[in-house]
Amino acid sequence: MPTLQEILTDTAEYVAWKLEEGETSAEVSRAILDELVVSSTRTSGSPATAAAVAQHAASIPAEQNAEKPSVVSGASSTLPPATTATSPMADKGKDMKDEMRAAKLAAIAAAVRSCTLCPLHADRTNGVPGQGNPNPDILFVGEAPGADEDAQGLAFVGRAGQLLTKMIEAMGFTREDVFIANVNKCRPPANRKPLREEMDACLPYLRQQVKILQPKVIVAMGATAVEGLVPESVSQKISDLRGHWLTFEGIPLMPTYHPAYLLRNSAMKKPVWADLQEVLRKLGRPVPKRSTSG
Ligand code: SF4
Repeated sequence: MPTLQEILTDTAEYVAWKLEEGETSAEVSRAILDELVVSSTRTSGSPATAAAVAQHAASIPAEQNAEKPSVVSGASSTLPPATTATSPMADKGKDMKDEMRAAKLAAIAAAVRSCTLCPLHADRTNGVPGQGNPNPDILFVGEAPGADEDAQGLAFVGRAGQLLTKMIEAMGFTREDVFIANVNKCRPPANRKPLREEMDACLPYLRQQVKILQPKVIVAMGATAVEGLVPESVSQKISDLRGHWLTFEGIPLMPTYHPAYLLRNSAMKKPVWADLQEVLRKLGRPVPKRSTSG
């Protein structure tokens, strides 16, 4: 069970975010309090961490960086089924939980955009925290932003991002259903590979995001992303790692090739599609035989 401090911290966070949205009062009904207890039990974040996020969230516009939640479907035969909201009170509790997730993600995004923890901040145009559904089945993780992403402050918006969109749609999802991020949130000069110390400096942001998002599956795209998330895999080739489950923060992680690599090696689309089919099986989702991603 969460402590009273944790419940109060989450309640304060919720109220702060509603006020930041411009509301002059925030309803904290019994249903919301019950949901906060469940949320605190699941996330079990330390009071200090939760308070810091709440303080950060209260200092930035709520609409900044946070996409509105959309419905995510997908029960699973191999993973615990998603909670199904069956009453207005349950719906309200779910909406509140998504709002809280969005607020916490916005706080992380704000921290990324002003971060100077590693040298990569010096050459960036924009930090790229990642974006998407605050309650996703799948978190896609790449290496680091490229030029288009750096210019727009959004993850996977260039040519590789367009291919990723097709891959996501071939799986039966939309980009709005999933969350997309990178190991490093700032673009390395000339798109060089991030250094290990740069990855280590940035990983706490991704860990916080994972803790909030609680995805059912992570798809790590490219050798560098896999190396960043699972350092002990560094001596293995991505061609050997792909298709085999690893874990990050206790969540199943599927390594596969990066979409940018597929743009140069279309023959690799077939093994990537096999990896994504494996992800769908893990989620208990229908598995299309053929990819429509080209
Ligand atoms: S790459 Fe990460 S750790 Fe480095 S400055 Fe950017 S946000 Fe901070």
